[in-house]
Amino acid sequence: MKTEISQAIIMRVNECGESDLLVTFFTPTRGLLKGIAKAGRKSRKRFVNCFGSFSLVSLEYLIKRERDLAFLHSGKLVNGYQGLRTDFSLLSKASFMIELTQVLFPSGVSDTRMFELLERCLALLDAGDRADLMPLFFEAKAMTLGGYEINLGKCALCGRSYQGEGVAVFQPEKGGIACMKCEQASALHPLMAPEAVKLLRRFQEGSLSPEEAQGPPEEALQQVRNVLKLHREYRLEQKLRTSKYL
Ligand SMILES: [Zn+2]
Repeated sequence: MKTEISQAIIMRVNECGESDLLVTFFTPTRGLLKGIAKAGRKSRKRFVNCFGSFSLVSLEYLIKRERDLAFLHSGKLVNGYQGLRTDFSLLSKASFMIELTQVLFPSGVSDTRMFELLERCLALLDAGDRADLMPLFFEAKAMTLGGYEINLGKCALCGRSYQGEGVAVFQPEKGGIACMKCEQASALHPLMAPEAVKLLRRFQEGSLSPEEAQGPPEEALQQVRNVLKLHREYRLEQKLRTSKYL
């Protein structure tokens, strides 16, 4: 039993008792954790500017038993993402990324790649780079890491492989696409142009960094946005509180 020092992203901070803070944070190796900062509301020294939502910090903490609350000893701010805090639209997008992370990676489920994705996307949003793409890029990759990748390689109904040509139809209940022979487009089974399938594939791979995206066609973006929303609501069986901001 010894203290650990880890990078962490602050997800939420609640007041607790007279002077303590209950802090929810996300780490690379342990995933989502909750900890108590004793006298955290008074002791500004041990935690200088650490407890702003979404802040990237370095935390020193002790976990006595798995699943127990951590005891936070001290913290150092690494990046407060000040750019996010001055713009409601950016802040809303960051809130969505935080909420989706907590749903896909609850306590006990960790993945270093998820931490890296969240950190990277917060930094890009903070810099204001392609803020319109960022939630889509983040969501597609986060869902993939969480085990909900959309199968874009073949028709989910007849098995014919999809070569990247022609229009496909999204199938929420299959977590994939269908060809036009097998399925008619509707509100629940929307069309995807080849550009939209390609864009979504690259988002899922994480190979297209949004800052490099050469302005994909607005129609493709709109289709990807709609498909991701249907997919998320079908798979996660809940509406995210923050999704209304998107
Ligand atoms: Zn088919």
